[in-house]
Amino acid sequence: MPLIILFGLLFAAVAAYYVYKRVIAARLDKLYLQPFSNAWVALLQKNVSLYSRLPPSLINELHGCIQLFLNEKHFIGKGIEISDEIRLTIAGNACILLLQSQIRTFPNFKTIIVYPDTYAAKQISHDGNIQVLEDSRRAGESWFRGPIVLSWGDTLRGSINSKDGHNVVIHEFTHKLDEQSGNMDGLPVLRENAHYPEWASVLNEEFTSLKYRAERGKNSVMDKYGAVSASEFFAVATESFFEKSAQMKNKLPDLYEQLSRFYHLDPASWNSTKDD
Ligand SMILES: [Zn+2]
Repeated sequence: MPLIILFGLLFAAVAAYYVYKRVIAARLDKLYLQPFSNAWVALLQKNVSLYSRLPPSLINELHGCIQLFLNEKHFIGKGIEISDEIRLTIAGNACILLLQSQIRTFPNFKTIIVYPDTYAAKQISHDGNIQVLEDSRRAGESWFRGPIVLSWGDTLRGSINSKDGHNVVIHEFTHKLDEQSGNMDGLPVLRENAHYPEWASVLNEEFTSLKYRAERGKNSVMDKYGAVSASEFFAVATESFFEKSAQMKNKLPDLYEQLSRFYHLDPASWNSTKDD
């Protein structure tokens, strides 16, 4: 008798769990398909240059991702009031990374902290054996399995100009994709196991090559900050992949191909911006 009760309780718990999962999934599906307001479209058109370049076939998917993103992420303003403009500009850029992805949201973190402009963060540096705590000016940060921090000024400047290869939102959210593998090391979770050897080989080679070019001031497609580490290389390469796509495809075709396979996107084929 007690065994029957135990099995009954176990069955009820499993059934309740599946019902709960189905209810959550149905709610998210509804949210994903919810109509996107004209005011939000206007904000994206005004602030997110990459939005104007997207092929029509990707627009609804982006809108759905943005709905889920805004539902899930919690924005905190530090010295700035969080507005729809701030939320949409950040979500619009971040969700471009999720188009055609196997995930619909960025997992394992909830909070996005926004400062009005470039902000100071404490950083430890070493002078011989002496540790020095100093202020470092930042446009953004991504904490491992923790919050994203963004400067609104840098976010907007990077978002409006879609051709300079600088987009702090894309940069910091690439770190979030990077950490899905368990480490922030420039190796995200790839679509197929067979893709890993080529990814490792091409990205290592291109990373070494960028370090060489950066030392000589000959880096043009990618910012020299990408030479700092493998993780920063992936984030900076992603900024250029979306914002300098034609140049990357032309000058760094192997790197472009790897990123295109990872994101399942071909931004070099998207519309040009008005000032092209
Ligand atoms: Zn970074």
